[in-house]
Amino acid sequence: VRVLGIETSCDETAAAILENGRALHTSVVATQIDLHAKYGGVFPEVASRQHVQTIYAVVEQALQQAHLGIKDVDAIAVTRGPGLAGSLLVGMNAAKGLALASGKPLVGVNHLEGHIYSAWVHPADIQDPPPAPEFPLLALLVSGGHTELNLMTDHLTYERLGATLDDAAGEAFDKVARLLGLPYPGGPSIQKTAEQGNPFAFQFPRSRLEGTWDFSFSGLKTAVLRTVKEYEQDTRPLPVADLAASFQAAVIDVLLTKTLAAARKFGVRQILLAGGVSANRPLREAFLAQKEFPVQIPAFSLCTDNAAMIAAAGHFRFVRGKTDSLDIDVMPNWPLS
Ligand code: ATP
Ligand code: MG
Ligand code: FE
Repeated sequence: VRVLGIETSCDETAAAILENGRALHTSVVATQIDLHAKYGGVFPEVASRQHVQTIYAVVEQALQQAHLGIKDVDAIAVTRGPGLAGSLLVGMNAAKGLALASGKPLVGVNHLEGHIYSAWVHPADIQDPPPAPEFPLLALLVSGGHTELNLMTDHLTYERLGATLDDAAGEAFDKVARLLGLPYPGGPSIQKTAEQGNPFAFQFPRSRLEGTWDFSFSGLKTAVLRTVKEYEQDTRPLPVADLAASFQAAVIDVLLTKTLAAARKFGVRQILLAGGVSANRPLREAFLAQKEFPVQIPAFSLCTDNAAMIAAAGHFRFVRGKTDSLDIDVMPNWPLS
């Protein structure tokens, strides 16, 4: 079974060809990061216009690199939400057009479900594919707009145990990077700067929110802001690397501690880490360093937005008969569960 995936929920125009839900033939991602960097974040109108300009070339490239035509795929999976309405519409309309012209079924995919299914994907040309994630598993989704713990007892089944009460983890990285004068997107710049810093230099608060599986990152962000202001008042040079390292350590500490506690409580077989923040190297290392639970993390290139993950989630929907009619609408606020 071969699925064409299409993703345009935010600022990446992406298409991919995936076989049997796991083997990745091609993945094309046209990022708009340079276009939005000067605004310090994603500018919605600019994003949708850029999607319109690149979508067909990106889909064409994914098919061409795989030496396939649209007639050779079994289904067309597209991100239906959550995301920016104008951006989602571009991918949805392209997918509908392709589905109509080719007669192939359309599968609307939840972007967060896509992030989770990125952990199933491996390059098509490797000898021994890694084992697929096993249920029951605990999925920690940490992205630019979401931070949540979901219990999965089977494919496409999510019980949300908790989520952030304020900022998403990626959003906290982006906001703190801004405070420290580091470039957008904040996650990679904080990680890079933190390599030169001392994670124990500042004792930033860890919101434990005992008795719940929720998260909160706004107190941490405020603590960084307060420290930055103190330095500015005394006209002392800002210890950017130490601040970045101490902030990052606090985020990792909270994510790991809470996820492990939930994994024990619900007796899962594995932990799955996904979403843009799962590209963070020290975060990955912290999760892999504990030996209590096997951990599944997508390849670096599949952590941030891409279409391979949409094709993967789309595959598992398609093989269960979960296709959609051509009159579905995008759902900018579609929750996972
Ligand atoms: P969502 O998936 O919630 O709709 P999104 O699609 O915008 O939001 P992603 O593409 O999954 O988010 O992830 C982007 C986020 O990941 C940004 O906030 C970015 O700062 C963060 N990020 C990317 N790389 C790293 C990294 N190495 N360390 C920490 N954060 C990172
Ligand atoms: Mg993005
Ligand atoms: Fe995303």
